Amino acid sequence: MSMKFESGIYIDGKWVQPASKAVLDVHNPATGELIASVPAAGRAEAQAAVDAAATAFKGWSNLNANQRAGYLRKANALFIERADEIGRIMTLEQGKPIGEAVGEVLWGADYLLWYAEEIRRSNGTIVPSDSLNTRFYLRRRARGVVACITPWNFPNAMLLRKIAPAVAAGNTIVAKPAEETPLSAIKIFEVFHDAGFPAGVLNLVCGEPAPIGDVFIESPAVRQISFTGSTQIGRMLSERGGKQLKKVTVELGGVAPFIVFPDADIDVAVSNLMAGKFANQGQSCVAPNRVLVHQDIFDVFLAAATKAVSALRLGHGTNPDFEVGPMISPEAVTRVNAQLADAKKRGAVVITGDSLPAGIDPKRWCSPTILTNVPADAMVTCEETFGPLVAIEAFTSEQAMLDSVNASESGLGAYLFTKDLAVAHRVSEALEYGMVVINGASFGYVQTPFGGTKGSGDGREGGQDGLLEYQELQYINLNF
Ligand code: NAP
Repeated sequence: MSMKFESGIYIDGKWVQPASKAVLDVHNPATGELIASVPAAGRAEAQAAVDAAATAFKGWSNLNANQRAGYLRKANALFIERADEIGRIMTLEQGKPIGEAVGEVLWGADYLLWYAEEIRRSNGTIVPSDSLNTRFYLRRRARGVVACITPWNFPNAMLLRKIAPAVAAGNTIVAKPAEETPLSAIKIFEVFHDAGFPAGVLNLVCGEPAPIGDVFIESPAVRQISFTGSTQIGRMLSERGGKQLKKVTVELGGVAPFIVFPDADIDVAVSNLMAGKFANQGQSCVAPNRVLVHQDIFDVFLAAATKAVSALRLGHGTNPDFEVGPMISPEAVTRVNAQLADAKKRGAVVITGDSLPAGIDPKRWCSPTILTNVPADAMVTCEETFGPLVAIEAFTSEQAMLDSVNASESGLGAYLFTKDLAVAHRVSEALEYGMVVINGASFGYVQTPFGGTKGSGDGREGGQDGLLEYQELQYINLNF
C-alpha cells in the first residue's frame, strides 16, 4: 500500500517542492514494502527554512503568552481528534504496536497543552537593589530560531517535547526528523498548519542529515540546537555548535540499570520490566539494559520474568493482538543479534527466546530473549541494547552493585524496586543517573524534566525546567 505525501518540506506556511529531485523512501519495517516517497530537503531548503523562521521571530515573540498559547491549545485539540489516523501512520513507518503509537500521539499532544498553560506562569524576578532609585529586573525571553533534530524511536513525542516549550516561549522552529520516520513529522506539521500558526513560526525539513545539519550549525540566525539521538552525533553537534557559541542541548542514549532488592514485590517488578523493556521492541533510551536482582530472590524473579517474556506475542504492529512488532530496520536486528552472539560466545545461558515463531521474518524481528551468566564486559552489559534482549544478573553487595552501575559512561534512567524507604532514599540518591523510578517504569510525564547526566547528555525536556531550556535571562538595571 503506497501513500501519497505532497512534500516533506514545510517552509513559511507552505508545502514546498525541493529544487533537486531528492526523495526519502519510507518502508514498512514489518514487510520492507515501500509505503511512500517524500520530496526531501537539501541545503537550499534548510537555509530557506532558517530564513523564514528568522523573519517570523519578531512577530511571534511579540505576541503575548496567552495569544501564543491559543495556537498550542488548538493544535492539541486537533491531535486528539486525529490520534487514530496519525498513530496508524506511525505504526506503518516505525513498526510499534498500534496502541503504543496512538498513546504516543496523545502523550506528544499533551506537551502542547501543558506548555500553553505553563508559559502564562513564566514569571520574572525583582532583585533587591542597592538604592531607592534603582530597580533590578530579571525577565525570561525567547532566544530566536531553534533547530530541533529528532530520532525515529518516538517520532511524534520527541518532536513535540521540544517544539511545545520552544514555541510557547516565543522561539521559532526549524525541525529535522529522522529519515526513517518523516511521515509522522509531516502529520505533525499538517496539524500546525490547520491550527493556523503564523507562517514561518514552524518549519520542517525532512531530508539527508549532513547538509541540513551543516546549515543549522553555520547559520548565525540559529541560536540553539536541540538534539535527541545517538551519543556520536550529539557529541559532533555539541563540538561544532559550541565553536559557533550556539546553545546545544543533547538528549542521548542510556544503559539503564533495573535493580531489584530482596524485599521488593516481585510481580510489580516483573510487570514493570515488561513495560519498560519490551514496549517499542526495546528501542527506547530508558529501556532497562542491565537487570540486577538480589541473590536471595534471583530464582523466583527469573522464573516469573521467563514466564512473562515467553508469553509475548510477535506480529505486525497494526494488529492490536501483538505486543512485539518489527525492529526499525534489518540493521537494527543485526546489532541486537550481535550482542546476543557476543554474550553466548562469552558463556551466557539463554533462558528463553533466541528463536522466532513460524512466519515471523528473522530479518525484521528480534526474539524477546532472557540471558543469564553474562560477564560484566559483554556488549549487552556495557552498551545500549535497543532491542528486546535482556541479561539478568544476581548481586549480593549493595555497594559493589552501585559501583558497577555507576561505572557506566551513561547516566539517563535507572529503576529501583524495594518496599524499604531507607533503601529507596539511599540507593536512588547514590545512583549517578538523571532519573530514578522506584517501583515503576515510567519517566516521561509532561510535568517532569526528562534527561540525563554524564554521557547521556545535559538537556531537560518536560516540566518547568524544559521551558527554561528555551529561554534566556535578561537583566534590566533601571535607575530613576
Ligand atoms: P542518530 O543516528 O543520532 O539520529 C538522530 C537524528 O540525528 C536523526 O534525525 C538523524 O538524521 C540526525 N543526524 C544524523 N547525522 C546528522 C548530522 N550530521 N547532522 C545533523 N543531524 C544528523 O540516532 P538514532 O539512531 O536515530 O536514535 C537512537 C538514539 O537516540 C539512541 O541512542 C537513543 O537512546 C537516543 N534517544 C535518546 C532520548 C533521550 O531523551 N535521551 C530519547 C530517544 C532516543 P537521519 O535519521 O537522517 O540520519
